[in-house]
Parts: sequence; C-alpha cells; structure tokens
Amino acid sequence: MKEASQNKDFYGRDFLVTKDVLIPRPETEQIIDEVLTLVGKPFLPGIKPPKPQIKDNPIIYDIGTGSGCIAITLKLEIPDSKVYAIDISEKALKIAQKNAKTLGASIITIISHLLEKVKEHKLPIPDIIVANLPYVDKEWAWIDKNALSKEPDIALYAEDHGLALIKELISDQTTKTAKFLVLEADPCQHEEIINYAKNNKFELFDTKGFILTFKNQAPHLNEA
Ligand code: GLN
Repeated sequence: MKEASQNKDFYGRDFLVTKDVLIPRPETEQIIDEVLTLVGKPFLPGIKPPKPQIKDNPIIYDIGTGSGCIAITLKLEIPDSKVYAIDISEKALKIAQKNAKTLGASIITIISHLLEKVKEHKLPIPDIIVANLPYVDKEWAWIDKNALSKEPDIALYAEDHGLALIKELISDQTTKTAKFLVLEADPCQHEEIINYAKNNKFELFDTKGFILTFKNQAPHLNEA
C-alpha cells in the first residue's frame, strides 16, 4: 500500500508531503538562493552580501505553492517579508498551512488559479513573484511516469509542451506589476520562456540550473 504521507527535506527543513502535493525537489532550492540574492542576503556563509535589488519588507507571492516549501522557506529566511502562498488546490493549501504551523512560519494562503482571484483580495503589489508551476509535457520520452504517479497530475503536467501555465502567468496583468519574476522550468524550455517573457517586458536577469529570474522592464506599472 502507498504511504499516505511522508517527510521531505527542503532547504534544510522537514516538510510533510501527501499525495495531494508535489514532492519538493533539490533543483527548486535554487529559487530560494535567487530570492535571497535579490533581497541582498548571502545564501552561503562567508560570501559577500549581494547588492539588494528590492527594498526591505518585500512582498512575495508564491504561485502554485503546493506543500508550501518555497513560501515557508522564504518567510523563514527573510523574516521581514510578507509571503502570500497561492494554489488552486484546497487540499494542497491545507498541507501548506500544516507545514507553516509546524515550522513556525507566518504566511497567508489564498485559493486561486494562478492570479485570478488575487484582485478580489486586494493584496499589496508584489515585489517578487516566484512559481514552480506544473511544466512537464506528457509527451517527453524521458519522463518516468511510474515515478511521477505518486504526485497529482495537476501539479506536474501542463498543455502547450508544458508551457501553458507559465505563459499564462507571465502575461497576467498582476504579474506585470511585480519587479522580479522567478520561475522554475526544464532547461529545454528556457529559450522559449525567455523569448515569451521578453515580449511581455521581462528581461532575463539571472539563471541557475532549472531557475530563471526576470526583471520587469516597465517599472512604471508598479505604480498602477
Ligand atoms: N522537475 C519536476 C520533474 O521533472 C517537475 C516539477 C514541476 O512540474 N514543477 O519531475
């Protein structure tokens, strides 16, 4: 019988995961390194603090939060931040809330397909949007469907060669108010995402492994 839940390490902390959420993966930890760099915090002991790109008390949205591993880690690593954890799945948000409680992180959870419901909640304008959205293309020959069968399809797969949700997020009007956008995707998708983002005024700022960081080239929109 499949285990109903398990614990998984992410960025040195233990997260509860169930069949309702994506299992945290090591490549996703680089999202945390990227955000720490943006807020001017060294992510390794002894390295020189990077020049901050964002003011203090950053507003961060995590889209498709799942177990909450990214949102919770960011809140714990950047205590003066305000972190909104957004997911379409109520079951996933329950796990995220549980993890937040266990780890002592104060985050705000919101049920929404991407940013659809965010306007109703009148959230503050985001400084940084992070997202590890579903990006696996069911047609990829190299994916191990058996290994992925323990996770919900809704957390893994997307249409349009895996890019449907990432593109929807990039072109969303609320996304365009954020100063930075940090996304995970398979490296084989990076070129297409970079081009798509460029057409939406997001310039590539940095890349690490699976992670792409974009800077908003139309900062006047932040005042909208
Ligand atoms: N990197 C994961 C995999 O290939 C997928 C994670 C995701 O869809 N966000 O198994």
